[in-house]
Amino acid sequence: MTETRRLCLVLGDQLSLDLASLDGLDPERDVVLLVEVMEEASHVPHHPQKITLIFSAMRHFAHALRQRGFRVQYVPLDEPQNTGSVPGELRRWQSLLHPQELHLTECGDWRLEQSLKDCGLPIQWHGDTRFLCTRDQFAAWAEGKKQLRMEFFYREMRRKNGLLINGDGSPVGGAWNFDAENRKALPKGITAPYPARFSPDAMTLEVVALVKERFPSHYGSLETFDYPVTQTDAQALWDYFLDYGLAAFGDYQDAMASNEPFLFHARISAALNIGLLDVRQLCSDVESAYWSGRIALNAAEGFIRQLIGWREYVRGVYWLKMPDYASGNLFGNTRPLPAFYWTGETKMNCMNHAIGQSLEHAYAHHIQRLMVTGNFALLAGIAPSQICDWYLAIYMDAFDWVELPNTLGMVMHADGGYLGSKPYCASGQYIKRMSDYCRDCAYKVSESTTDTACPFNSLYWHFVMRHSNVLRSNQRMGMVYKNLDRMPEPKQQALWERGEALLARLDAGESL
Ligand code: FAD
Ligand code: SF4
Repeated sequence: MTETRRLCLVLGDQLSLDLASLDGLDPERDVVLLVEVMEEASHVPHHPQKITLIFSAMRHFAHALRQRGFRVQYVPLDEPQNTGSVPGELRRWQSLLHPQELHLTECGDWRLEQSLKDCGLPIQWHGDTRFLCTRDQFAAWAEGKKQLRMEFFYREMRRKNGLLINGDGSPVGGAWNFDAENRKALPKGITAPYPARFSPDAMTLEVVALVKERFPSHYGSLETFDYPVTQTDAQALWDYFLDYGLAAFGDYQDAMASNEPFLFHARISAALNIGLLDVRQLCSDVESAYWSGRIALNAAEGFIRQLIGWREYVRGVYWLKMPDYASGNLFGNTRPLPAFYWTGETKMNCMNHAIGQSLEHAYAHHIQRLMVTGNFALLAGIAPSQICDWYLAIYMDAFDWVELPNTLGMVMHADGGYLGSKPYCASGQYIKRMSDYCRDCAYKVSESTTDTACPFNSLYWHFVMRHSNVLRSNQRMGMVYKNLDRMPEPKQQALWERGEALLARLDAGESL
């Protein structure tokens, strides 16, 4: 065998030929290493579809590399010599191949990156150029700021990348943000496009069998797996969204509807996060769709904001604040995650739908994650680490850099408001306005203190009352506390008692 010059380890969420560590790869003298390891597949009970996606996409990527003439060492999960961890495999292959250099692109998980830095090997690290903002650039932007705001970061990113910017540097349409035009509820008679589906090929079916056998205790269905596992299919999913979803995404970005798990959302986050799509291309396609008159500005701006605003922003916060960020717990929550998060068995129709579709498809869209399952965890005072682990496990697109700030910061406000200026707490009225869930619910959204009252209503006020000492001084919560202060004492008392009763039921291990 030819002597190995470089050994390039490619992780399961780095499946892009443009990866920085693959730059200048020499098919004659370099080796690409891909490893399926138990530690990464099981450090939280990942949804079986997520494990399938990653292993299958890795196998397809290895195949594509080999077809291009590259030397690839692929370690399947059940190979007898597999050490079970990424650092273990890197050490093993280092001693088998004796490469002159080891190359690796920075990871998407602080824990894994640290374990590789600690593994005693002289790794040459590369920045992850799949993102628009480097870790250092974000740190420079954040320097000296007591609190960060996504909106200001987003404007910088728009300017820097020249997206939806007029010749004089002003934003197209005269405003940076058309968020207010992204919040329509779904009117009757409007239906979502039929979701694009990708039938598993033989390679994926092999992985499905492996996952079934090796991860039988992980929650979530495997039968409905229909995600793209190659760049070609991911591109087809994206093209489908451009043709059939994007135009309505602008108006109905925040809407929720029973039996419509995807609505006008792209479902591309998993493919994007593992490297099958390129964020620059996505933004450019969306901008072109706007300039060609195919979509309105609120759709184009709204989508680009998610990609170059929120997505890059949460990554920046993660790398700036880890590892301390993970232990944030502003409200001192200790309540364990209710068991129904793993089964969907609850009479709350909104939770039943949001959790149910997450188990079925490893997917829920942003508002379901933020304002239904997340909102409930916030109001019920769930321990941040437990709800974070749930999100990390259950969603196909969940990697620590993106899941943690969204959950711990945006949803749980556990970082003390570093990422977002106020908690996204809401009563059942918000869910009623943005969905049709309440219509078929065992609880009554119009009631707050009766036995049949919507749990979100009393838990919302219970949360507001119990954290008054922390939140009352937050300007953006001013109106909420004004409303509380105007509320007659007996009403406050009744809300508190109903909230206490619901929390006691959770503590007793009951479902609601
Ligand atoms: P669309 O609604 O079509 O949006 C387009 C794209 O914008 C997404 O594909 C995604 O790449 C990006 N995007 C939108 N919002 C965000 C955001 N807040 N952070 C990062 N990217 C964003 N997204 C993940 O990719 N992985 C996660 O682990 C994850 N965890 C989340 C946890 C919570 C509690 C919340 C509230 C949000 C989380 N998000 C996460 C963000 C968002 O919910 C998903 O990106 C989105 O639902 C993916 O579906 P889609 O591709 O259909 O997105
Ligand atoms: Fe959810 Fe409350 Fe509406 Fe039921 S009534 S669906 S629990 S918001």
